Amino acid sequence: MSAMLEVRDLEVSYGKIKAVKGISFSVDEGEVVTLIGTNGAGKTTTLRTISGLLRPSAGSITFQGQDLTKVEAHDIVQLGLAHSPEGRRIFPRLTVEENLLLGAFSRKDKDIDSDLQAAFELFPILEERRAQPAGTFSGGEQQMLAMGRAMMSRPKLLMLDEPSMGLSPLMMKRIMTTVTTLQQQGTTILLVEQNAQAALKRATKGYVLEVGKIVLTGSGEELLTSEDVRKAYLGED
Ligand code: ATP
Repeated sequence: MSAMLEVRDLEVSYGKIKAVKGISFSVDEGEVVTLIGTNGAGKTTTLRTISGLLRPSAGSITFQGQDLTKVEAHDIVQLGLAHSPEGRRIFPRLTVEENLLLGAFSRKDKDIDSDLQAAFELFPILEERRAQPAGTFSGGEQQMLAMGRAMMSRPKLLMLDEPSMGLSPLMMKRIMTTVTTLQQQGTTILLVEQNAQAALKRATKGYVLEVGKIVLTGSGEELLTSEDVRKAYLGED
């Protein structure tokens, strides 16, 4: 069986700056795959390229057998690939419910109510505060909203860019537990994190990025116990 998402020799540049320098990785159905690495390693650039927000200068991105490199971003959502971006990017003046409904904009069917219910089940606070302007939410609540919104497109593959950024340990745990819940419910996940430990604990497979290149790969467990990863990313001597 071929991978759900296959990235091959991907290169992405901002003008003369090459941010991603020929990376290859794959995500199989049902997996939680994580890309870890320090600031500026190219993680966000990679996710934005898969989503069609940036175009690669070389390489291929194949999702369920289809080449994505020339597909428009909104069509990529329709193919079943959703992106919860770095910094959450919620619409602060819109209500929680309006933000969620925006996540379903590309859908043609009319069963949006059941997805709203699914988002409310995942994060009950979204239902309790559905009429509240989203800008009044705390960072953790905004992260829940961003994930709920991404799930409204009924993705087969959900890409999460640093969901734990700036969150308290308790809120981080809540968000990471939801990653596992979504996996159990059948969503495949590509998770970008600076919090390597939290991500690797849940990952079936991990890739370590350094200045635009993959320097290490293995199962979540292998990377968690790897000497190199422990030294560089888990803050241990
Ligand atoms: P972070 O966790 O800080 O977001 P990252 O691994 O996601 O790090 P990217 O944001 O993908 O890294 O950045 C990769 C490289 O590309 C960095 O050197 C960054 O400065 C550069 N870069 C990112 N966005 C732009 C941009 N819009 N214009 C120019 N250079 C950029």
